[in-house]
Amino acid sequence: MSLADPVLTLADLKRQSFTGTALAVLGHPIQHSLSPAMHNAALAELARIHLEFASWHYYKFEVQPDELPGALDLFHARGFRGLNLTVPHKVIAFAHLKPAAPAVRMIGAVNTLLRKESGGWEGYNTDGYGLTMGVREDLGITLGGMPIILLGAGGAARGAGVECLQCPCASLWVANRTRAHLDALLDVLRPLAGKVPLHGFDPQAPPADLPAGALVINATSAGLRPDDPPPVDLKRLPRPAGVYDMIYNPPATLLLRQAAALGLPCANGLSMLAHQGAKSLEIWSGASAGRTAPTMLRAARAALGSS
Ligand code: NDP
Repeated sequence: MSLADPVLTLADLKRQSFTGTALAVLGHPIQHSLSPAMHNAALAELARIHLEFASWHYYKFEVQPDELPGALDLFHARGFRGLNLTVPHKVIAFAHLKPAAPAVRMIGAVNTLLRKESGGWEGYNTDGYGLTMGVREDLGITLGGMPIILLGAGGAARGAGVECLQCPCASLWVANRTRAHLDALLDVLRPLAGKVPLHGFDPQAPPADLPAGALVINATSAGLRPDDPPPVDLKRLPRPAGVYDMIYNPPATLLLRQAAALGLPCANGLSMLAHQGAKSLEIWSGASAGRTAPTMLRAARAALGSS
């Protein structure tokens, strides 16, 4: 399946039959999602050894935010085994679920749903796992024990902050353009911090006591448009150990280009996307995430190249 594969709607869900084991990603907009390409490539590879996966397929559905609660019931009634949720459904769905793990409650967002035969869905969030694995794979950096400078205070930053504190990182410095959003995130993270120093700052005025050798994680949307200025000027920070930008399209944001120009190890978020996807598939199928992640990464790269 490529990016050109059909975007289905709830009308299609009511009308069509979905034989075998069906999985899907729900979003708005969804046209450019790489998840179908990643998952169907992994399923095809699994099917070469385990024949049952030959009847598994992953679809993409355009679902408006106000349609989501009804859509979740409909996907369940149509027998779907698992769902991925992307913008803007991760937080909306959370309100309709009984999340499985305490970490999901802290994040307040779900990206993976597993069908419960007794009714409803079990909610998971695999983004934190994806971040940990992506950073380790691309930069050779383990979040545990690292000083971390986290840029952003939206959903992705919240998931990343929870993951960093759970590892636990050595210290966490969060920067965001809008102070009120930063304060709200710090309020969420503070109870998890324990002994880990947790601070917020204005990205336009980095404080003098920022640690050197930190990992900078961009969890803002600044960079999605090629002319977006970077969310922070790396030259104003003590020299970091590396920069990981969750954005993967475009593949090199201005932040990553500045990092490369400064000679810093850096990577975009494609590896995070592949690892969170592999973890979702593990939840649905039992197939180990470590086994399917390389296939998902190759498929995501190929789909991006052909889009
Ligand atoms: P949200 O809309 O929830 O949050 C957006 C964040 O970006 C806010 O902190 C916002 O700041 C900040 N921001 C937006 N525009 C600018 C700008 N021009 N300058 C500075 N800051 C800005 O989005 P998400 O948290 O869901 O996603 C954030 C990014 O992470 C997206 O680019 C998304 O693609 C990426 N992502 C990647 C994943 C992966 O697997 N690689 C997984 C999940 C997300 P403010 O509060 O001031 O508005």
